Amino acid sequence: MESHAVLIAEITDLKARLAQSEAVSEGRLKVLNEKAEELRKEWKRAEAAEAEGYSTDACSYWRTLGGLAILEKKKSEIRNDMRLPLPDMVVAAAHCQTAGLWCESLARFLKVPEFVIDIPMTYDESEYWTNVEYVKSQVLNLISALEALTGKKLDYDKLKEKMALIKKAATLRRECMELCKAIPTPMSFFDCIISMGPIHTLRGTTASVDFYQALKNEIEERVANKVGVVAGEKYRLYWDNLPIWFKVGSLSTKLAEMHAVPIVGAYTHGGAYWEVDRIDPEKPLESIAEELLLICKDMNAKYRVERIAQMVREYSLDGLIMHSARTCRPLNIGQYDIINAIREREGIPGIVIEADPTDPNYYSESEIDRLLPAFVETMESSKQHRK
Ligand code: SF4
Repeated sequence: MESHAVLIAEITDLKARLAQSEAVSEGRLKVLNEKAEELRKEWKRAEAAEAEGYSTDACSYWRTLGGLAILEKKKSEIRNDMRLPLPDMVVAAAHCQTAGLWCESLARFLKVPEFVIDIPMTYDESEYWTNVEYVKSQVLNLISALEALTGKKLDYDKLKEKMALIKKAATLRRECMELCKAIPTPMSFFDCIISMGPIHTLRGTTASVDFYQALKNEIEERVANKVGVVAGEKYRLYWDNLPIWFKVGSLSTKLAEMHAVPIVGAYTHGGAYWEVDRIDPEKPLESIAEELLLICKDMNAKYRVERIAQMVREYSLDGLIMHSARTCRPLNIGQYDIINAIREREGIPGIVIEADPTDPNYYSESEIDRLLPAFVETMESSKQHRK
């Protein structure tokens, strides 16, 4: 998806040139107009949130989800495969301030009850178990609130069964990602984020276990046959913060052309789905509390340096790409310090690229085209130096 702003600028320019009878392709103008219209419809969800007074600097995940609810409530036109039923209650784990505030404002807009679980954002190991108890007590309150709302009691045996399936799927998924220590890597970071779907949307189902088993079989076969993701793999990368979802295809192609491939990332290689040993089906509430708490580990720069340094060694990495997300500030914490620390400890370089997970208005293609080749040159000279 190209940036709406970029397309509109190009259309305006072409129209001006047409008016001056300059030779421009009417065909290109038609294609651009169609693309802009498509994009306008897609982006309507975020614009709906902006029209309600939410700043364009607010989390774009929230603007997309909140905008969708606003459009649904107003019975506006929405593509059928984008529709979500309106909720009877809004629940959020406030692992960042925005998440809690978005829950409150959405509940207020929809006039439904809300429940926000407060998650301590930064902590050290000595506070871990106190925090687990704190989060668990809130999960228990949430269960009571849901039991009151639905008139049904939670079936703890069923919850344990679900937790066992979650653990199975998470273990297989982790094994898939660990197979990427192989050179060449059989799977990229972009494949890891795309294949996150079942662990989230099919949680606790046998379908999710089957999916990761099939994925693991395929990856093992690729490792055995030395089938890599990019031809002539030369640079193995770490990706920080959320992906730039609307540019996953284009970025992977650009990097592949330079023989570079992101393999691991904070978004995929962390949390309870990574620390699978912490999931205990016999203690489902503690496991849920730990899962919620572990997300915030990635907001602690000191922890991140240790974790990334370990991944650099285990996955033979050559560089770090730090996505500084314009509307997701919490996950940007410490990125420049992390680059410096990893350069000093592991001798590999890093780069910060400014963009956004879902808002194309904060993405500059020309800036990416300027930064990435220069970064590959830096990695090459650092590689030579390390030899
Ligand atoms: S962590 Fe980032 S993406 Fe998630 S709710 Fe907070 S601002 Fe939004």
